[in-house]
Order: sequence, then structure tokens, then C-alpha cells
Amino acid sequence: MAEAKKPTGLLSGKTVLLTGAAGNIGSQIARDFVRGGATLIMTGRTKKRIEDARKSVLADTGAAANQVLTISMDGGDPDSIRDALKGLKKTVKTIDVLINNAGSAGPKQPLHAVPLTEDEMNAQGETETAADAMRNILGVTWNVTRLVVPMMKAGGSVVNISTIFSLTRYYGRISYVMPKAALNALSELMAQELGPTGIRVNTVYPGPIESDRIRSVFAAMDKVQGNDSGTIADYFTGRMSLTRGTGKAKKEKSLPTPLDVSGACQFLASDASQALNGVDLDVTNGMSARRDSRSTYLTRPNMRSLDGAGLSVLIVAGEKWDDALEIAKVHMDAGAHVLLGLARNADVAQAEARVRALEISDRLTIVRFSRAEPDGMEAALAAFTKEFGAIHSAVIQTLKPAGYFTGPLSEAEDETVTEFMDSELVGSIGIARTLARYWRGREDLIQEPRFVFLSTESDGGGNAYSKLISAGTRQLVNIWRDESRVGQAKGETKHASWGNQIIRYSNNEAENGRFTAGHASALSCNEKKVAELDLYLPSDIADETGARSGMVGFAENITGLHKGKVAFVTGGSAGIGGQVARLLALAGAKVM
Ligand code: NAP
Repeated sequence: MAEAKKPTGLLSGKTVLLTGAAGNIGSQIARDFVRGGATLIMTGRTKKRIEDARKSVLADTGAAANQVLTISMDGGDPDSIRDALKGLKKTVKTIDVLINNAGSAGPKQPLHAVPLTEDEMNAQGETETAADAMRNILGVTWNVTRLVVPMMKAGGSVVNISTIFSLTRYYGRISYVMPKAALNALSELMAQELGPTGIRVNTVYPGPIESDRIRSVFAAMDKVQGNDSGTIADYFTGRMSLTRGTGKAKKEKSLPTPLDVSGACQFLASDASQALNGVDLDVTNGMSARRDSRSTYLTRPNMRSLDGAGLSVLIVAGEKWDDALEIAKVHMDAGAHVLLGLARNADVAQAEARVRALEISDRLTIVRFSRAEPDGMEAALAAFTKEFGAIHSAVIQTLKPAGYFTGPLSEAEDETVTEFMDSELVGSIGIARTLARYWRGREDLIQEPRFVFLSTESDGGGNAYSKLISAGTRQLVNIWRDESRVGQAKGETKHASWGNQIIRYSNNEAENGRFTAGHASALSCNEKKVAELDLYLPSDIADETGARSGMVGFAENITGLHKGKVAFVTGGSAGIGGQVARLLALAGAKVM
């Protein structure tokens, strides 16, 4: 029998654990890594599937049997990973490289139809609920990383596979792109956490990869949108700047291939990239995507001009609902009727008592509104509407207060990961679905519906969990806006919904709550339509809004005063010049 080939190459001497190794991209990575000299641990959920995949890698590469190992584990179940690693540790002591390639495709339904229960999933012929997809995308990478990192040492490399669609619009795929967007933040935060231990974490963003999976996904997306077949594929290939041709084949815009993704992974796994940490590599044939969409508030909210007369606003409170009451008060002062949705029955009783004592209950209805109970949320909206008319906007808090989820993400407990994903990320999808359904096709709205998500205030410790939520929420807002715009164009709904998220953890001051309440109200009362998805509180409200120069009262009165004028301000980037430039901008001037 011929002697097996000795491993030589870029990855020689490295022990690599690859998840999703039997899949489309995974099986290409497996072959290339084995050819590159790595000792490879292929993982998958099904023993037979992963064993068959190993046989085919050995046959194709001619590698020695002991160069390719397998373990089977469900990355969504931490105990299953623990069991698999326990067996592995008998032969493998150290893992040098972890490639987090595993990830499911999630249900292919627009927000208003996303399956939240198994019955809904079965009725639609889907194989996952939104919660399953969260676990099979974000959960798998998070769980595998936190359990494998203790087997890694300085010089180790973690590569997470995201998708470029976590940054773009992607109709009908919220259950896939929201967990991937949170995964992007997880990657970035883990790069900061693990960097000091010598372990680096980088992210690959594949575009649509030539595969059966992408063809069936695009076909499903065209179907739910009512497009001609091929519309989505043409749209994305049209956005690629690179034209490639292989051999004598005609040069044309084409989808990148599994080989292209594997190439990026090889680079990030190898010592050739040892100075790279927290880096994003797009494998998209040049399809670019905007990485953030943000602005920072430079003025205090102008409560006096707020007009909420005739509007009804839903405020979905978290478990710490004092802030929600503040937001409710600002809306009621502006003339709006508020439906305050509280997470627990006990909160409802307490809030009603507090409101009675404050004598502010004339335009306030308080109900239980649990983001884990879609039917209950729909019933609460229907009951309110019957009595008081349509709800036009919603302000949505996180369920848990700042600091509830805390500590390094790489050391998170099993229960924390599960509770966090369910309560905050899947919970937000639940609320969004409820509202998307409620607003779809309504004839009784007097203006376009608005939604505003609020992050928690600062936890004083880096805000890692809040950053995961806001990364996911940004993509939720992005997709929701786009899907409702498409729905309006198709005549499914009269008004397209519009929303933003306000990021509060950028500020640690006592004024945070009132500042947030005022700006959230301006958005929900339709006073402003802001294009950016993320709206940050300034770190120092007094400084950034000009209060130190005693000009805030003045600022509130000059809005629009110099509209249409152009102002030249020399030295306008800092100090007094900067304040002048800001005030002129506030007054509507174009500042040069
Ligand atoms: P694929 O053929 O469907 O493979 C995905 C793999 O993920 C499967 O082998 C599956 O393992 C594994 N997986 C799913 N849930 C899991 C869980 N709970 N625990 C363990 N493994 C789990 O998909 P692909 O096209 O190769 O995609 C690979 C990666 O690239 C994914 O992260 C995907 O999001 C990303 N991506 C793909 C494209 C594309 O166009 N195809 C574009 C952008 C990004 P089993 O073998 O156990 O079923």
C-alpha cells in the first residue's frame, strides 16, 4: 500500500476544529485544510454524515487516516459539545485553530410571517422557528467558542463565518441575518476579550456563495416577494465590482465559490495573518456593504414643540419600567394616548398604583405585554384599538436592565446564553412581528407607523451584552424598514413603517433617561424621520449640546431659523467655533 502523503503547507503542525464540516462550504474548507497540512477535527450533528464526509476527504486528499478525526455534536446544545470534547481530549490536547463555519439558514419568511412556534413552523413547511435559528446560528458559534477556547493557547486563531447579508437588506431572512449581525458583534468583542491571551478572532463575510443552498434560498426569497425568478440573484451579482473568468470561460459577474471562502479561512488560520485581530474579510467579489449607519444627538430634545395629539403610542417596557413611565409621561404631555405594556402581572398592579398616586392616568392604559407570548401581545393591541383607535408608534425597551447580563462573553454560562438569546433577541423579533402584522394593511392610520428600539443605559463595564443586542437590533430595524417599503410598493400596506434605535450606553449621566425619553418621543410622534439606523446619546450631554456655554435654551428656540442659508465657520471643528457651527447647523444652515 502506498505510504500516505506527509502534511506540508501553510497549516502544517496546526490542529484545526471545523464546525459544519459536512456542509457545502465546510467540505471545501476540510479538503483545503487537510491539503494545507492541518490535522483536522471535522464536526457535524449527525455521526453518519460526518463519517461519510471524512471518508470522502481522505479519498480526495490521500491524507493519512490519523490526520482527519471526527466528532459529532449539536452546537446549539452546550452539553453535547462538552461530551464530544471530553472524548476528543483523549487524543487531542490543544486546538490551534477553530473555524466556526456551522450555521443554519433559518426560516425564509418576512417579519410578519416569521414562525415563532412549532405549529406555525410546521404549517409553513419550515424546519426552524426564529428561536431555533438563533440557537443554530449565534448560539452554535458562541457555545463552541466558549467551550473550545480553554483548549487553545497563545497563537491560536478563531475564525467566525458570518454573511455579508448581516449588513445589507435581505427580504424574508430576518431569522438568519439578525443572529448573524449579533455574531459580528460577538466576534469583535471576543477579539478584544481574547486578544490579551494571544488568541485572535477574525470574521469572514461571504457574499452569496455558488451552492445549492444559495440557489434555493434566492428562489424562496423571490417567491415570498412575488418576483420573477432570478431577480434576487441578479440584484446581488449586479452589485459586485469584480468580473472574473476561469480558463476559457467567458468573463462575467459570478458568485464567489466555497474555494474563495476557504482561501480567506486558510489565511486567517495560518501564521501569515498573525497580526490580524478583530478584522473583517469580505469574500464577495467586491460587493460592498456599509458597516454602520449612525449619528450622535447634538441637541437636547425640544419637548415644547412635540405634538402627539390624536396619536396612540405603545411603550413596551422592560422589567425595570421607571424609564418607561418617564417616556409615557413625555408622550402624554404631548397629547398622545399611551398603551404601556409591562412584562409581568405584578408590574401592572404596581404601575397602576404609582400612576394613580401621580394623577397622570387620564391618557394611560397599562397592560401585561410579554414578548414571549405572541398571542397575548396581539390580543392586547386588538383590545386597545377597539376602545381607543389605532396605535401609530411603538417605543421598545430591552427586557432586562443594564448590568443584568454581565461578564466576559467568552466565559458566559449556558443559562446566560440561552436566556439572553430568548429574552432579548428572539423577544425583539416577537414584538416586531406583532407590530408588523398589526400595521400591515391597516386603513385607519393617520400617518406612517414608527418604531423606536432603546438600548439600556451604560452598565459601567463595557456593555458587551448591550452591544450584541444593538448589533442584532440594527439589522432588525434595517430589514423591517425594507420589508415594509416593499410591502407598500406591492400594495400590501398603505403606509411603510419606519424606525431607528437609540443607543443609550454611550452615556452615563443622570440626564440619560429624560434625554432618551424626549428624543424617543420626537421619533415616535413623527416629528423627525432620521435615515441613520443608530442614534447615539453623546457621552457628555452638557458639553455636546452646548449647555456649558449657556446656550441650550437659545438652541431650542432657533431650530429652522437659518434654513436654506450657507454658513462658513473658520475653526469650526472644535471649541467655541465648534459650538457656533453646531448651533448654525441646528438653525438649519448648511455649515461649511
Ligand atoms: P450548509 O451546507 O447548509 O452547511 C451548514 C452546516 O452547519 C451544516 O453542515 C450543519 O451541520 C451545520 N449546522 C447547522 N446547525 C448546527 C448546529 N446546531 N450544530 C452543529 N452544526 C450545525 O451551508 P453552507 O452554505 O456550507 O454555509 C456554511 C456557512 O457559511 C454558514 O455559516 C452560512 O451562514 C455561511 N454563508 C453561506 C453562504 C452561502 O451562500 N452558502 C453565504 C454567506 C454565508 P450538519 O451536518 O450537522 O447538518
